[in-house]
Amino acid sequence: MNKISLKIGLLFFLAICILEGISMLLLHNNIIHSRVHEELSALQTRGNNHRDVLEASFQEDTVMHIAMMEARTDTQVVLTRPDGSIYMSSNKVTDEMKRIMKSKPKRVPHEGAILEEDWKQAANIASVSPVIINQKIAGYVYMFQTTQKIKDLISGLNQHFLLASLLSLIFMIIIIIFLTRVVTLPLIKMSEATKRISKGDLSVSLPKLAKDEIGDLGEAIKVLANDLEMLKNERNEFLASISHELRTPLTYIKGYADIARRKDTNSEDKDNYLEIIHEESVKLSKLVKELFHLAKLDENSFSIEKKEVQLLPYFQTIIEKVAPAFRENKMTILLECRDHLYARIDPTRFEQVILNLLDNARKYSEPNTKIIVSVHQVNGKVHIKIQDEGKGIPESDLPRIFERFYRVDKSRTRSLGGSGLGLSIVKQLVEAHGGTIQVTSSPNAGTTFDIFL
Ligand code: ADP
Repeated sequence: MNKISLKIGLLFFLAICILEGISMLLLHNNIIHSRVHEELSALQTRGNNHRDVLEASFQEDTVMHIAMMEARTDTQVVLTRPDGSIYMSSNKVTDEMKRIMKSKPKRVPHEGAILEEDWKQAANIASVSPVIINQKIAGYVYMFQTTQKIKDLISGLNQHFLLASLLSLIFMIIIIIFLTRVVTLPLIKMSEATKRISKGDLSVSLPKLAKDEIGDLGEAIKVLANDLEMLKNERNEFLASISHELRTPLTYIKGYADIARRKDTNSEDKDNYLEIIHEESVKLSKLVKELFHLAKLDENSFSIEKKEVQLLPYFQTIIEKVAPAFRENKMTILLECRDHLYARIDPTRFEQVILNLLDNARKYSEPNTKIIVSVHQVNGKVHIKIQDEGKGIPESDLPRIFERFYRVDKSRTRSLGGSGLGLSIVKQLVEAHGGTIQVTSSPNAGTTFDIFL
């Protein structure tokens, strides 16, 4: 048996044993007490009956008759004179009986009294009834009854109790074993499942559990296993993507370096190749920088230091920064933002969000289009919209564009220097600000990113 069921079982067992022991003891004592009480009062009544007969006619005949009546029973009658000397006895008077008779109180009420009730120690229980004729004590009727009868009765009772206790004990053990199984079996299953999870086997299946705390625990373990499985897959995919992303520029660099090193390459070609090598290494270092950034975001080791920022000058500065690149691509960039609009953001980190989105808008749009950045306050939230008239994103790709390394058109975006990491960084940064980001797009009409803070 495992430990927890043993513990619960023992605890149950102990509690029930104590309860049952106490109630059995009480019941046992009660029964004995009432049985002894019955015997005692029956004895006293019998004595009183003899006394009544004697009070009606105190004669030799009557006395003999009473003695004869008692001679064949397990009770014994002794009649004494007022001074205590024995007048008649139905059987032999033992020393113990004499001692009991001596213990009679001086005054005995007419309804009689119990003289000995210690059925455990004494050989007899005893009662006394005074015979009063003409308001004078004419004698005493002592009644004795051997305690053997009570002892037999009680030993019979004890045997019944023992049998009942044994039976209930067996029954109890069976129930406890069954109950602890019901309670602990799911726990054992879960512990086995968690052990398997920690060994890397994430395909846990737990049996259907009841809707209670144990059921909740089981559900939590299942969710945990699923999450771990997802994380593991994600990590594997991520590592595969990283090595792929790193390999491509490295292949270019190595290939062009090889050609450039050849003696027969003229200096014009050499310059060309060096230019390509330079471009590729710029891409590579950008990729490494982004990866590093993502790792920091994942670890939560970066801190967002929010400040109250006035948005109009903030966005004006950012747009001034990117304007030359847009001008070069013959694109117009417009800002709609009213004065005195504030938001609590980390200015440096949020600038990266906007720069990434504007960079995408520029990369994926054609010349002679415009990009609109509009900032509003709606229901206490700041709404930032970045809208372009570019090539758009196909609907099937929309749900995935925030994923790492996800690019819609792999070959084209690579030539534009995209790594597929930009939007996943944007999303993480916006969420770190407590905000949300959404995208809507229609191919060849344009894309809109909405940030709510
Ligand atoms: P990348 O570095 O490749 O731009 P992102 O994570 O920033 O990576 O974007 C993921 C993909 O989403 C891009 O490869 C591109 O296909 C698409 N995308 C992002 N922004 C836009 C946009 N404004 N217009 C059209 N496509 C976009």
